[in-house]
Amino acid sequence: MFPPRFPHRRNSNGTHDSICAECMTTVATVLREAELSGFELRHVCDPVRVFQISRGWIVEPEGREAAR
Ligand SMILES: [Zn+2]
Repeated sequence: MFPPRFPHRRNSNGTHDSICAECMTTVATVLREAELSGFELRHVCDPVRVFQISRGWIVEPEGREAAR
């Protein structure tokens, strides 16, 4: 089996994040975890960002503002 492409994270405020394991971007933040699959289907990685991560240039996940 492959590792999940979009691991989910539960936030302290009760929302759920979906994080793309390829480009480390927060795909969406929603109240109901079941809603994440629609966002995940539409997500397209930024190839520049994926390249930078593969080279180790980016270590911090993006999208922290969405969790506020
Ligand atoms: Zn991605």
